[in-house]
This record gives sequence, structure tokens and C-alpha cells, in this order.
Amino acid sequence: MPLLCKECNGRRFPIAFTGERDALWLCEKCKNFTNIKDEFIRDWTEKEIEENKVKLDNFKNGVTTEKTPEIKRRTGVN
Ligand SMILES: [Zn+2]
Repeated sequence: MPLLCKECNGRRFPIAFTGERDALWLCEKCKNFTNIKDEFIRDWTEKEIEENKVKLDNFKNGVTTEKTPEIKRRTGVN
């Protein structure tokens, strides 16, 4: 399980993507994704970082009325 990052030993988070069977594991510190076998897949893109920031800000501001499908999908990951 790629729960801990090989590079920084930080905690990884499983992120589900539409069309992907398995979730990818994100290290927020190293800004990259690995698959379930702990193989490097790709970098965390600027766009995704930005989107993530927006979501966090919304969350902090208490904007919980917006129920996006993405959030629902994320809770469905094992
Ligand atoms: Zn890392």
C-alpha cells in the first residue's frame, strides 16, 4: 500500500478519478501521484492544486450546500 510517500515519508491520500478503476495516491508535499503498486504516475498539475485549494477554501468558509459529484465519489473510495 502506497500509504506513505517513499520520498518524504509523508502520508498519501487516495484520489478517485472519473474513468479510472483505481484511485491514485497523492503526496501533497512532493506533488505527485503513484498507483496502488507505489509506481510513479504523474505530477500533481497546477490546475488540480488550484482546484484543491478552492475546495479547501470553500470547506473552511462553511460552503457545504454545494454537493459536487466529485466529493461523493471521493467518499466511495474504500
Ligand atoms: Zn512525498
